[in-house]
Amino acid sequence: MKKFAFIFLLLFYFGAIYLQAQSEELLCTSAGVEFTLGGQIGGYVLPSEGTINVLFVFAQFPDDNHDTSNTTWVKGQPPANMQSWVDQSWSANPTQGSMTHYFNEMSFNKLKFIGKTVSVITPETRAWYLANNKKRGDIHTQIIQQLDQTWDFVEFDNWDLVSTYNHNNQPDGIVDMVFIVWRNIANDLPDPADIYDRLNMGRYGDLGYGWPDIIVDNGQRRLKMGFWPSGNNTPGGSGATLADWFTENMFRFCIHEFGHYLQGGNNEHVGFGFWGLLSGWGIKSFVANAFERYRLGWINLNTVQASPNQTIQNATLPDFVTSGVAYRLVIDETRNQYFYIENHQKNSFWENNQMFLRSPYGNVENGLYVLRQDGSPRTEYSTNCGRRKI
Ligand SMILES: [Zn+2]
Repeated sequence: MKKFAFIFLLLFYFGAIYLQAQSEELLCTSAGVEFTLGGQIGGYVLPSEGTINVLFVFAQFPDDNHDTSNTTWVKGQPPANMQSWVDQSWSANPTQGSMTHYFNEMSFNKLKFIGKTVSVITPETRAWYLANNKKRGDIHTQIIQQLDQTWDFVEFDNWDLVSTYNHNNQPDGIVDMVFIVWRNIANDLPDPADIYDRLNMGRYGDLGYGWPDIIVDNGQRRLKMGFWPSGNNTPGGSGATLADWFTENMFRFCIHEFGHYLQGGNNEHVGFGFWGLLSGWGIKSFVANAFERYRLGWINLNTVQASPNQTIQNATLPDFVTSGVAYRLVIDETRNQYFYIENHQKNSFWENNQMFLRSPYGNVENGLYVLRQDGSPRTEYSTNCGRRKI
């Protein structure tokens, strides 16, 4: 007998109250964009279709003494799997388990996610940064400036933000996306939380909010340190911070932080315990859900209207992840209330490979799932300022 599971996709729009409650990072949305959540709106500040060329920087402090011989990432060396993290050129047959593979499968080859990887050891010790009151923005600036001596960033600038959800495939002098993935911040020290706080370290959808742009390539290009676009057409961010390797699933959170660039801020987190590109809390699978894939233009949906009454007969629902087939039942379009029906038969690599399924919330089981969307039409106002962690 078929197993039915009911999962609720809840989208919260708390406005100012929520922003004040999540005090981490200043944000100001300057765009007066208004749109409903019922359509295929594409990517927010980066495109959901086309080629995105990113840089992954795997970083460590020279005086990081946490689990130094761990074979996944030995101290002083690059991570063991660094070469299989992302492909440098796009292919319909990418390295299995790579970011390129993930986005190929989620987007049906619409988003060609490629990039390079590099391993760096910071120019100064962690002890020095602490003693000199240096923060994440300072450390990341040093890392990028060190790379700039031997790297050219031109290949990582391919997109120009015309306005949110509207992108031109041409350089704009702003680097598109750099992930800085940390081996360890402070797990070898007696009070890690204190060190995180003093260095302003953590997992963020930015490289160091509030810090000046990092100028590279002899002034020809720059990296932006925040997230939110300014004046609607200037990107606010050029990357994300991931910390750290031994306590979080780096692959999942790289997807997550990139998901913010495609879908927006914390308002766009999906609910507890199922799956999503912009997964909220505990997840059962890494895959993007029907709401996200439709919104990003990666799939079309079989929409069933609320009225007049419709009877759907002989509907075929193959495996959702590999086929992209899903149904959407309209409850109330004006209030963005929908149910989505997905069939998970775990045909996808991303719902089978054990490396990606270490969830304390259990793995996805075969069967039909119903996701509920309950979101008001969203409006962003120029006065929408607050502090939040992304
Ligand atoms: Zn997030």
